[in-house]
Amino acid sequence: MTALETTAPRDEPGRPQSSDANSAGGDGTSRRDRADRVQLADKALPLRILRDQATNYAALFARARAEVGHGQCLCQTPALRLVIRCSRGGRYHLAGWPGEGELHDPSCSFHKLASELTGRDAYSTEAIREDDEGVAIRFSAALARKLSDPEPAKASTESREGRARRTVGLLGLLHWLWESAQLTAWHPRWRRRSWWICHARLSEQIAGCSINHENLADALYVVPPFRKEYARRNTAAFETFLITRLKQRPDTQRRGLILGEIRDTSPTRYGVRYTLAHHRGALFATTALDERLRRSYRPAFSNAAAEHGARRIGLFLVELSPKGNVKVVDMAAMLVSELYIPADSSHEVAMANALTDSGRAYVKPVRYDGSDLVFPDFVLTDTHPHSYVEVYGIHGRESYDRRKRIKQAHYQRQGAELLEWDVADSIPNVRRR
Ligand SMILES: [Zn+2]
Repeated sequence: MTALETTAPRDEPGRPQSSDANSAGGDGTSRRDRADRVQLADKALPLRILRDQATNYAALFARARAEVGHGQCLCQTPALRLVIRCSRGGRYHLAGWPGEGELHDPSCSFHKLASELTGRDAYSTEAIREDDEGVAIRFSAALARKLSDPEPAKASTESREGRARRTVGLLGLLHWLWESAQLTAWHPRWRRRSWWICHARLSEQIAGCSINHENLADALYVVPPFRKEYARRNTAAFETFLITRLKQRPDTQRRGLILGEIRDTSPTRYGVRYTLAHHRGALFATTALDERLRRSYRPAFSNAAAEHGARRIGLFLVELSPKGNVKVVDMAAMLVSELYIPADSSHEVAMANALTDSGRAYVKPVRYDGSDLVFPDFVLTDTHPHSYVEVYGIHGRESYDRRKRIKQAHYQRQGAELLEWDVADSIPNVRRR
């Protein structure tokens, strides 16, 4: 994926936002300097360089793996262990040590919320398997179908069986991508997030992952950010995706995934046309599918969402029609703030904006395919212990509200502060006390 590597941004999360952020601490190195530095064997380097130039540092990665067995993140003292992964293609990656995500500084690229605050925890190791090569995902829908077989009514979404989910659905995959690329988090030290940054973070995450035994990077096209100078290259990359990924084989209809920001939907003679930001071509869905998607992802399609600078992200499962159109088979949609932080309603978008404007560090817990899971609406990571934010809208889901109150009591017993907003009132002051 060299094309993606070259588009890596200069403004990685973890980098200081301005030069005055570099003031030295007592040991000559500020926490801000350490927050994006890692150690491999006897060398300390910025994480960004290791990510951008993983191939050039292959020998160092290999030596660290052989001599030490792991890398080290320098965001804390003592340093925290990092898993060194090597994909089958021979590309090295660093990943957070299992169960230690919470210990990293909230501005660190390896920081994660506790497992009880993510829908990720509801999956078995069959569904999402992490090992020294990378992450293997078992996706609930087939990525190819025999043309002789009847077309399924819709891509199946597994209902929860037993203790853990054994496959990942489309929304689960979208939330996994967002969370593992750290796009569910915000820190005031980070540079303002654009699609350019989202694309780079997602591409890093996808490299070395597999889905139903195929390379995720081949199966999933993440719409690249539009830049005039890259326009021709991006068009060529999409053509390659259409031809190598989606083009029908004599007996097989192939499928792929497209991830991008939904710009607009408009009716056509046969259904609905979706256009994506940064992308020239359109995607087509039947009216029946579009209606189902609007019901399933109501917040993303509500008119109120357009307020507060909200955006909509779509992960599309697609095929190529006999005429060469990109046909949507299924989709998961997600409402996000202007900075691409997921939100469950337009009120949550307003809250995310207020938190950002007030210089707060926060994370949005995501449910994956577990629609019945209950999490705080936001987790503030700049307090110890973390604080929680609840936005009370007008949803009238009694059982949900009841479970939420039980969870809140549980958090408060742990000493967590609760910041509440009833949307009937004006938004409260969310500055750190
Ligand atoms: Zn760290």
